[in-house]
Amino acid sequence: AGYRSTTPWSFSVTLRSGAAVATRTTLVTRERGRTIGSASMRDDGPMRSPLPDYLTEVLSVCSEGKGATSDHIPELKNADPDRFAISLVTAEGVTYSVGDDDTEFSIQSISKPFVYGLALEERGFERVLDAIGVEPSGEAFNEISLQRDTGRPLNPMINAGALTAHALVAENKTPEYRIRAIRDLLSSLAGRELEVDEDIAASELGASFRNVAIANLLRNYEIFPDDPDDIVAGYVGQCSVKVTTADLAMMAATLAGGGIQPRTGERIFSRSVVRQVLSVMATCGMYDAAGDWLSTVGIPAKSGISGGIIGILP
Ligand code: GLN
Repeated sequence: AGYRSTTPWSFSVTLRSGAAVATRTTLVTRERGRTIGSASMRDDGPMRSPLPDYLTEVLSVCSEGKGATSDHIPELKNADPDRFAISLVTAEGVTYSVGDDDTEFSIQSISKPFVYGLALEERGFERVLDAIGVEPSGEAFNEISLQRDTGRPLNPMINAGALTAHALVAENKTPEYRIRAIRDLLSSLAGRELEVDEDIAASELGASFRNVAIANLLRNYEIFPDDPDDIVAGYVGQCSVKVTTADLAMMAATLAGGGIQPRTGERIFSRSVVRQVLSVMATCGMYDAAGDWLSTVGIPAKSGISGGIIGILP
């Protein structure tokens, strides 16, 4: 499911179906472990999915405005905080969507699991695992969470690991080359051509002091051979790819389906890569709230500072 909100709500859906001519479906909404709503319906005759009504209910329960737009990237501060959507795509490509699901926003850190998958496909497990660990850092996304002796980033979901995954996609190439490769990947996952938001990219690049520092440390430890400024420029382009909530759900559904894009049928990731990506999403995808998320919601997920969250029920 792709889920966009400026509030840090979490939700889970339990779906129980009886197998008979008449089917009873019970949907339970939980927020931080507490049941906040449930709906039970009997479907006699032609099956009408209860999911649209259910998503509408979740949308209304969760749309009370709390939280704030991010000031981490100057341009993101101007985002409209009232935009809100929930999209759900099954591994077969059936889509249920409510709210502002066609509003575009920059993908930010939600790109990280997909680019990690691309690095694994391009460079192989040995090279990637040698450069990036798989341990939760328990720290914020932009902390300098590096292994003390080797300088190896703790995991690919924090910035240090994501900058490295970005670099591993292709060594000694230009930022434009890597942005193109990553944009192509994200477009295949979404099933439509995605573009980079150049205003967001310029705004982030002008304020990337911390990411430049992290990239320089990584270069110093010889985690990658490229120029650190090039890596940050490419990574910022990656984070600025524009998606909608409906796109994110479709991209996530490719992971739910073992690497096959549900609409086009294209195999984008091998099963072993999907397994690896989902594992690090489960343990590290929500940074210093990963344990809280896993114990209350319980599915691999990834957040981004532009307000989106994806979750996957493999
Ligand atoms: N582009 C942002 C950064 O690297 C992404 C951070 C995020 O979404 N958590 O700082």
